[in-house]
Amino acid sequence: MIYETAPAKINLTLDALFKRDDGFHEVEMIMTTIDLNDRLTLEQRRDDKIVVEVEQNYVPSNSDNLAYKAAQLMKEHYQLKQGVTISIDKNIPVSAGLAGGSTDAAATMRGMNRLFKLNRPLEELCELGLTIGTDIPFCILGKTALCGGKGEKIEFLNKPPSAWVVVAKPDIGISSPDIFKKLDLSVSHNVYTNKCKSAIEAGDYELLCESLSNRLEPISSKVCPEILKIKSNMLENGADGAVMSGSGPTVYGLTQKERQAKHVYNAVNGCCKEVYIVRLLG
Ligand code: ATP
Repeated sequence: MIYETAPAKINLTLDALFKRDDGFHEVEMIMTTIDLNDRLTLEQRRDDKIVVEVEQNYVPSNSDNLAYKAAQLMKEHYQLKQGVTISIDKNIPVSAGLAGGSTDAAATMRGMNRLFKLNRPLEELCELGLTIGTDIPFCILGKTALCGGKGEKIEFLNKPPSAWVVVAKPDIGISSPDIFKKLDLSVSHNVYTNKCKSAIEAGDYELLCESLSNRLEPISSKVCPEILKIKSNMLENGADGAVMSGSGPTVYGLTQKERQAKHVYNAVNGCCKEVYIVRLLG
């Protein structure tokens, strides 16, 4: 039996540059990880089945679960005869813009690589993982990276300056494909990816906070107006920077001091059920 930790990701920036011929948007985004984790246990089975166990009934435990899809992919690609039981202890909010499903899939692939002693390089797993989700390559490698293409072109950056992260998810789920469909590229919105990259390179916390930006934020905010309310609430109550992650609706705010983070937490705790204080991992 082996264990894998699956951290949530946040977008420090997210830009969509143009629509590609394959229907995906060409993205440019800086992502990092936070210590809000799902925990996975993987065990080899005597038969050839894939079984996913997850307590929360709002997460699928059948072949719709991304961890199931990842296990099936590994099994087929590496011609594994035995199956696997994957138990997921789910802590990451679902349909939130935190890549909860993708990080479980990534952890399943890393875990099966160890469990079945495949010893395949992570880059190979990334290529394979991309066939079931564009965030999976980043989730396999983690850390902090500037991602391009559909999300699979990964340039590692330094660890960002240390910070507390107050994460708040409004009580609705948002589907990324729906938001990308609504994106009108002729409407401009500033995204500061280069500034964010410089901030990380220089370890400049203030510049990092200034550069937080997301092209999808105005679109998701139309679907879920709480996003902008939470964001301004965070900024008014001591967050040094705040932005929506992914396609939302999760918003996070950064602080340097724990006391400041608790203040932000208390300010937004009333307006949504899922609020967390965590650390940037990077
Ligand atoms: P992204 O940021 O990559 O768009 P997300 O955080 O917005 O992801 P997820 O939490 O991955 O969204 O959930 C999206 C959908 O995937 C939900 O409908 C959910 O039911 C389904 N899903 C499949 N597998 C999982 C899993 N292991 N954990 C959570 N959701 C899953």
